[in-house]
Amino acid sequence: MFAAINWVRYCYKKMKHRINILFLTVVWFVSALFVLDEQVKWTIAITGSIVFFLVLSAGVFHFPFNYFMKATHRFSSDRVLLTFDDGPNDHSTAQILDALKEHQIAAVFFVIGEKAKAHPELIQRMVNEGHLIGNHTYSHPPLFAMLSQRKVSEEINHCTAAVSAITKRKPVMFRPPIGYTNPNIARAVKELHVRPIGWSLRSFDTVIKDPVALRKRIEKSIRPGMIVLLHDSLPQTAAMLPELLASLRQKGITCATAEELKQWQS
Ligand SMILES: [Zn+2]
Repeated sequence: MFAAINWVRYCYKKMKHRINILFLTVVWFVSALFVLDEQVKWTIAITGSIVFFLVLSAGVFHFPFNYFMKATHRFSSDRVLLTFDDGPNDHSTAQILDALKEHQIAAVFFVIGEKAKAHPELIQRMVNEGHLIGNHTYSHPPLFAMLSQRKVSEEINHCTAAVSAITKRKPVMFRPPIGYTNPNIARAVKELHVRPIGWSLRSFDTVIKDPVALRKRIEKSIRPGMIVLLHDSLPQTAAMLPELLASLRQKGITCATAEELKQWQS
């Protein structure tokens, strides 16, 4: 009995998409063959299809669901890992690097390839100060979930080329734009051997424009071991970071160090 439960749990963790397809097939099969009443038959089939599409949508849009591929959403120790997406840029990345340096904290920057190309000095500074560079595609396509596997691979490869031209090292970690996943993205990730990294705490810094409100929201939800999603492209994130880091220190919540990050990546 326990073996059967464990098997189902294993399959669900590994193949949520296949389990969902199986669910839809069973619903249609049962309603078509065993339900005689026409109205009940269609009610079961339509309800089952709606559930299938809701689960599928959650899989595409909610990265921590691990629906199409398994990603890392928690840090390996009790420390907090801060991650910054969508940079580098000349108005807030340096400010963020200053705050991290003052508190001797290392972070992961999921950079956009074309921005890295435009600001090689910021990429070099990140590396010099013990931060890790992750791949966040070359151009951050807004319709990333609609691209073919070939286009997804191109986006990842071009970003890798832009970063490694500066750092002489290929980024190992990958975060898809907007956290989209689908079978094409999952296959590209597997073929290119990049490690998908998600998050356990979304700061919502793209939505909350007020730095104080943003800091308070993060302070309220942050817990040891979390990976926090932030954006170094946003002025409100840069504005609240020094105070956030000071208040975390006061509360005894520690963030990753350069040494720890190095071990985590290898
Ligand atoms: Zn992004």
